[in-house]
Amino acid sequence: MHLLRDRRSALRARLSHDGLDALLVTHPANVFYLTSFRGSAGVVVLTLDGACLITDSRYATVAQGLAAAEAGVAGLTFVQVESSYEETVCDVLKDLGVSRVGIETAHMTLARHDWLERGLAGSGVTLRGTTGLVESFRQVKDADELATMREAGRRISGVMAETLSGLRTGRRERDVAADIDWAIRAAGFDGPAFETIVAGGPNTALPHARPGERRLAAGDLVLLDFGGVYDGYCVDLTRVAILGTPDPAALGWHEAVSEAHAAALAAVGPGVRASAVDTAARAVLERRGLGAAFHHGTGHGLGLEVHEAPRVGKRRRAVGSSVSGDDVEDVRLESGMVFTVEPGVYLPGQGGVRLEDDLVVTADGYQFLTHVSLDLFVV
Ligand code: ZN
Ligand code: ZN
Repeated sequence: MHLLRDRRSALRARLSHDGLDALLVTHPANVFYLTSFRGSAGVVVLTLDGACLITDSRYATVAQGLAAAEAGVAGLTFVQVESSYEETVCDVLKDLGVSRVGIETAHMTLARHDWLERGLAGSGVTLRGTTGLVESFRQVKDADELATMREAGRRISGVMAETLSGLRTGRRERDVAADIDWAIRAAGFDGPAFETIVAGGPNTALPHARPGERRLAAGDLVLLDFGGVYDGYCVDLTRVAILGTPDPAALGWHEAVSEAHAAALAAVGPGVRASAVDTAARAVLERRGLGAAFHHGTGHGLGLEVHEAPRVGKRRRAVGSSVSGDDVEDVRLESGMVFTVEPGVYLPGQGGVRLEDDLVVTADGYQFLTHVSLDLFVV
């Protein structure tokens, strides 16, 4: 409860600094972060002195419960949608007497935006685009979130260790993926965090291969990339195995990626730009002549979503502009930020290797959330 109150007051300070009277929160992960409401539809209007959860009759009991639990503590109120969400949002905003209302431009459709603009015409309420406001708070995890993610990391590591030792030639990629999905649930996760990747042989050259009919064969590299959602929070882990005798090229890729992974980790610490972690990994692969084979970012933030801030990649111009945000999307790392480090190399038609771990930035560096040996696993 206090946690939700603290999160909302931190965000209010930001709204007030940005000259906004309210924020219309429509992205489900952000709604959850501010209210612990987990329905498939729901909107929060956060004002400088209150918060209103708007949802429909399917979730009325849950929403009433959340509001009742907060009575007298943090002031969450509940408003039930009667006709449409848009109409209810317009009514609530008009009743609140707010004038400058932020919207989450990365998450609102143009259709909904146009509807709200028409519904609010002449009322004195104006909509202002914002990007990444709630996300900027979400990227630094609190103690409770970290405890959940450490446990999730421990559990997903167990699933990986079990899967690696169970790999056998003759099995189809899709069968291995089905076993992994079952094991993720059996390990206590709500479910997989994304579609499980099992790629064998030349398919390892596809960074986001879909598990297919191909049967694992002797000499194959096998890439496993999967994650789970544990108590709302995502973890994400990649390892590679070899079935039988490793081919020298595969060993070379694995060695290069291991070195890039270590270089990325060595760069992690509070105050460091996220892009510096990417540069460290990239420099190793470039030096080994594999720069062009590494064509994605080194990592991504993790939490309520499997891809969230901070982005750990090359510096680039941000899409949209936050009311008070930077033009360049390249945050300075802070203690409590959680992200993946996952350099990889992909040689079309031949194969690929990626090694991915999840970590949290600490006052003096980082700690792993995932714990599986980085050695090439030989089956
Ligand atoms: Zn992954
Ligand atoms: Zn990942």
